[in-house]
Amino acid sequence: MAATYDVVVLGLGGMGSAALAHLAARGVKVLGLEQFSPAHALGSSHGQSRIIRKAYFEDPAYVPLLLRAYELWEALERRTGRPLMLRTGGLMLGPEGSAVVEGSARSAREHGLAHEWLTAGDIRRRYPVMRPEPDEVAVFEADAGLLFPEACVLAHLEAAVADGAEARFGARVTGWEAIAGGGVRVRTDQGTVAAGRLVICAGAWLGAVAPELGLPLQVERNVMHWFEPAASSEAFAPDRFPIYLAERRGTPVFYGFPALPGEGVKVAFHHSGQITTPDAIDRQVSAEEVAAMRQTLAAWLPDAAGECLRSTACMYTNTPDEHFVIGLHPGDPNVVLAGGFSGHGFKFCSVVGEVLADLAMDGGTRHPVGLFRPGR
Ligand SMILES: Cc1cc2nc3c(=O)[nH]c(=O)nc-3n(C[C@H](O)[C@H](O)[C@H](O)COP(=O)(O)OP(=O)(O)OC[C@H]3O[C@@H](n4cnc5c(N)ncnc54)[C@H](O)[C@@H]3O)c2cc1C
Repeated sequence: MAATYDVVVLGLGGMGSAALAHLAARGVKVLGLEQFSPAHALGSSHGQSRIIRKAYFEDPAYVPLLLRAYELWEALERRTGRPLMLRTGGLMLGPEGSAVVEGSARSAREHGLAHEWLTAGDIRRRYPVMRPEPDEVAVFEADAGLLFPEACVLAHLEAAVADGAEARFGARVTGWEAIAGGGVRVRTDQGTVAAGRLVICAGAWLGAVAPELGLPLQVERNVMHWFEPAASSEAFAPDRFPIYLAERRGTPVFYGFPALPGEGVKVAFHHSGQITTPDAIDRQVSAEEVAAMRQTLAAWLPDAAGECLRSTACMYTNTPDEHFVIGLHPGDPNVVLAGGFSGHGFKFCSVVGEVLADLAMDGGTRHPVGLFRPGR
């Protein structure tokens, strides 16, 4: 059967929208299929803000990808005229020797990234609303900040369509198989399409879309909360207050953002949520969950621990080592996989889109993605 499209992209969330844009920019005939609506709130790419930073505590191997991700986000901003990123500076905080602090300092050192080392006294002077313990320190990175995830997804979709991509929403992929002689047949609830290549960006649904791989993925429910700051709310404005990631004794790692206009101060635990599935996830947030977050916030930012304005659930798709899954499908070189972003993928969407376009069109990429081999 003649292929109708050069490439089909399955899933148009954070990663799929970026892949669609990069493929369309190369003049490829590409179709994107998404079961829900553009920039929906039922996957992993919603909730107003995502942290972006370069001094990556998780592993210095991510830094070259981050440098390229920043360039590509800036290029997308210029092209679409949409504000996508806000540099607020970022504090990576914890006791000396903690993974967040030491890992960030190591990445900064190894890659010559601009950063400062702050003591508890420095932190209190710079951000009087913060309450560091006397033995806590922080790596401060001026280039860190946040992305607006819904705007990022919409900007990639807009650029893709402007370059000739087709995007179908409310279209669920129900299966796919290799076509003898080359290419892939993709079945949807609205009919079947054929393509030379398939790029799978199914987020928390990856296990369901590619069950043959038996990938060791766990979907984890994690909740974001927005709290109303007390009187001194100017102290939380984005020009005065940074993003932060905190590893403190007696509480799971958590992170937060400045108060964006018209919204409260956003804060969330990183991991420590329930293991679930995209079908079974509890979208309600309990009073106990809000109370646990407020208690953590009260010790760190007491002026922000006011009324909880809203809370919403989101999904991490975790791998055992918390590194991503990016590469060719081990059983079919016409299929490219991107998933398992383990709660830290959004900042990379722009560069992952470029990597996926490389893999789909050339079978390889100049970017360092060895850490993410699907069969590792
Ligand atoms: C609470 C929370 C906080 C986070 N904070 C950060 C952060 O600060 N910084 C950061 O870098 N990362 C962060 N992340 C992680 C980051 O948001 C994710 O890694 C990223 O959004 C994953 O993108 P994705 O494209 O894989 O998934 P999604 O954006 O969920 O996209 C997958 C898409 O595939 C579609 N799909 C699935 N199956 C099918 C099918 N069969 N047919 C058609 N469509 C299908 C889905 O509907 C969905 O739209 C956070 C995540 C959460 C949940």
